[in-house]
Amino acid sequence: MLRETVRALADDKIAPRAAEVDETGEFPWDVYKALVDADMHAVHIPEEYGGAGADALATVIVIEEVARACASSSLIPAVNKLGTVPLLLVGSEELKRHYLEPTARGEGMFSYGLSEPDAGSDAAAMRTTAVRDGDHYVLNGTKRWITNAGVSEYYTVMAVTDPAAGARGISAFVVEKGDEGFSVGAKEKKLGIKGSPTRELYFDNCRIPAWRMIGDEGTGFKTALATLDHTRITIAAQALGIAQGALDYALGYVKERKQFGKPVADFQGVQFMLADMAMKLEAARQLTYAAAGKSERAMHGERVDDLTFFSSACKCAASDAAMDITVDAVQLLGGYGYTSDFPVERMMRDAKITQIYEGTNQIQRVVMARQLLK
Ligand SMILES: Cc1cc2nc3c(=O)[nH]c(=O)nc-3n(C[C@H](O)[C@H](O)[C@H](O)COP(=O)(O)OP(=O)(O)OC[C@H]3O[C@@H](n4cnc5c(N)ncnc54)[C@H](O)[C@@H]3O)c2cc1C
Repeated sequence: MLRETVRALADDKIAPRAAEVDETGEFPWDVYKALVDADMHAVHIPEEYGGAGADALATVIVIEEVARACASSSLIPAVNKLGTVPLLLVGSEELKRHYLEPTARGEGMFSYGLSEPDAGSDAAAMRTTAVRDGDHYVLNGTKRWITNAGVSEYYTVMAVTDPAAGARGISAFVVEKGDEGFSVGAKEKKLGIKGSPTRELYFDNCRIPAWRMIGDEGTGFKTALATLDHTRITIAAQALGIAQGALDYALGYVKERKQFGKPVADFQGVQFMLADMAMKLEAARQLTYAAAGKSERAMHGERVDDLTFFSSACKCAASDAAMDITVDAVQLLGGYGYTSDFPVERMMRDAKITQIYEGTNQIQRVVMARQLLK
């Protein structure tokens, strides 16, 4: 029922805007409003904070269905989850009430600031600092590649509080858009997900109250990694949605398009491609749903030893599948697939990012191997 509801909303309000959003690179505020009206914009926020209280699997289904229509728009529910999971995992009650409630009401979105110009895969090498000054912290530095920066009100930011302590000297904070000393850079010009702005964050003696620290001092990097265990599953969901959109479009096309006097769907060479696309997609989907079940149990305090493996595995499998499937969808449309008159080239460009962010797929393999060998 949830899938049908989101699909109907996506078909009605999101899919018709997807090509224009890609073309103009404008953040789709109308889609945001439609998602807020349907309580789908931050669907994972628990009911006690005014949210819809969707579990991890329901959140995956929402993201999947939005991404099937428009990958940029699917980053609204996905990045709202990414930015707020640190609060849900270790935030104080005060912090949760203060930020989750307005996010649930649709008054502001959350972004997540971990990466820096010189600290990508090696995120612990970050240089942004937060120095305690009375009952405040003063932040200085630059974050890079921050999804929805500029359109978000709230930012979860990781910064070094003890330079001598390495990864154990990193802490997490909430920064607000209006904080003095905080600003954002120009929009990156990207291959895909063009309707989701990616920008740098600048901290220039940005002074924030100490109560905005998420969890204890020195636990920020641990929280960042624990967050990714839950949210890589949402990137898998985005990849699944993009791939499903491309497969569905290609299926319709090959039944209509005639060559040699019959629909190209009648050729076995085409059928085998379709079968492989659907097989890869369904395998990745089942892995993602299994990971979502584990994420939900871990969120409720259960010890789930293989969550890290499953979240990396599903993100890697689903994004690799999405890349293969969207490339094949372009192929199945022939020359038409290569033009922006048809949606599959956009889906192919959008799919690529799912192999890169929240840890590249090489890093996912590093994570999985570490779990196997430990
Ligand atoms: C559009 C977009 C949105 C993003 N959104 C966010 C966001 O909201 N918040 C945020 O914090 N970050 C975000 N990121 C950052 C993203 O997570 C990083 O780009 C990613 O982690 C890779 O870091 P890097 O770009 O510095 O690449 P690098 O780390 O420089 O990697 C370069 C290459 O080396 C490979 N490599 C690096 N280390 C290893 C290793 N040990 N073994 C094997 N291969 C390795 C990589 O896989 C890659 O192929 C976003 C990025 C993009 C492009």
